[in-house]
Amino acid sequence: MLLTLSTTHQPATDLGYLLHKHPDRAQTFELGFGKAHVFYPEVGVERCTAALLLEIDSVGLVRGKRSRQAGTVGHYANDRPYAASSFLSVAIAKLFSTALASRCKDRPGLINTPIPLTITLPVLLCRGGETFLKDLFEPLGYEITAAPLPLDKAFPDWGDSRYLSVTLSQEIRLSDLLSHLYVLMPVMDDDKHYWFGPDEIHKLLRHGKSWLKGHPNKEQITQRYLQRTPKLAEVALSQLMEGEDPEADAEVAAQSWQKLAARKPVNLNQQRMAAVAAVLKSHTAKRVIDLGCGEGNLLKVLLEDRWFEQLLGVDVSFRALEIAKQRLSVEQIPMHQRERLQLVRGSLVYRDQRLIGYDAAAVIEVIEHIDLDRLSTFEQVLFQFAQPPVVVITTPNAEFNSLFPALEKGHFRHPDHRFEWTRKEFQTWAKRVGKQFGYRVEFKGIGFESPEVGTPSQMGVFVRQERRR
Ligand code: SAH
Repeated sequence: MLLTLSTTHQPATDLGYLLHKHPDRAQTFELGFGKAHVFYPEVGVERCTAALLLEIDSVGLVRGKRSRQAGTVGHYANDRPYAASSFLSVAIAKLFSTALASRCKDRPGLINTPIPLTITLPVLLCRGGETFLKDLFEPLGYEITAAPLPLDKAFPDWGDSRYLSVTLSQEIRLSDLLSHLYVLMPVMDDDKHYWFGPDEIHKLLRHGKSWLKGHPNKEQITQRYLQRTPKLAEVALSQLMEGEDPEADAEVAAQSWQKLAARKPVNLNQQRMAAVAAVLKSHTAKRVIDLGCGEGNLLKVLLEDRWFEQLLGVDVSFRALEIAKQRLSVEQIPMHQRERLQLVRGSLVYRDQRLIGYDAAAVIEVIEHIDLDRLSTFEQVLFQFAQPPVVVITTPNAEFNSLFPALEKGHFRHPDHRFEWTRKEFQTWAKRVGKQFGYRVEFKGIGFESPEVGTPSQMGVFVRQERRR
């Protein structure tokens, strides 16, 4: 895997000072994934070229590691040794760290001066092809040439491969160019991002701080850089766009990452169900109704826990109930366990005798599907008629929507949502309901918490007061 960097700034040999690598020496560095060689194929006053050659140890990389491809030929025989990839970022950060940080004690003025620089990447695989390559580098001011490489020169009929031979040129500060490559190599490489660690957001914000904010494709860059981990991308973007001190932001983001990492790979839905199950147990509820049970997400979690003795799923949608039945393999549940679960069709806005006598009711991501003018009927059905000792209600937190890059302002998360409430709106409603029907209410967030907008989902836990009739 090769990258060359040339300048025609005069004297061009200053490139050696800027890179902190002497033009007369060929040097080799051991990196975790193989060897990196730095040498100068061209040294002149008018033009100087430095080359970074990576020798990737494909076998060493996979030895002792688990991988999706484990045991396949692709594991050992792949494009990693040849095509420019995320490894280049690692090498840049290790070998050219002073230049990347805009430091050069021998040419302090020059490191901060734009000079003519050209990068060549003789073999590059850019997921999204030439168009995406241009979307990435054109807004940063580069002149780009990208020529597809033939699959095999001897067989022109076979056509082109997915690989490109690329040059990028502009008059630019060396540190800026290196930071562009540092961030964008893994973005082009997309899912082959081996070295994903807890400080990834920090690195992205540090190296992208001067330019990513103004980049028209910042969302895509952030998402791909953070390996399509949407929550991390949300954090990074919101940190980036707030215009605060990126270093301080990065600190916060790094902490958030740790929280997230601890939960990984639990997704929001799993977190929600686990949180609800925990609350139900903490209130010693063994007989639970799941109102608006949908396809049985919560019931599945509760069924697996022998603590819960009796479960009733209620939903208005016949289709959802059919799916729930299959997912929960109702037919396959042994006879003596079958009585634990019942699925019935019913509505949350009609009084229903079947809802009476349970320890708790869960209403998970359902109220936002009820028309606002029918909400008071639902309140009466649940809190006045059925009145279980404990009610757990969750609903989206509308404030968090600002962190979903794909969600247009003013739009709901789901087309069937009739409303989405801020934390204040939900709490105001819940406190009023609690007061009206004699329930004490507490609130909890579910999911990753942003300091400004809270968690993606919010939960109200209603506990019936003893004084009730
Ligand atoms: N609680 C489930 C499903 C949430 S989706 C989960 O968290 O996965 C909302 C569900 O509420 C849908 O299945 C929908 O059919 C149901 N629903 C909406 N309005 C309802 C009503 N008035 N009565 C009963 N179910 C209703």
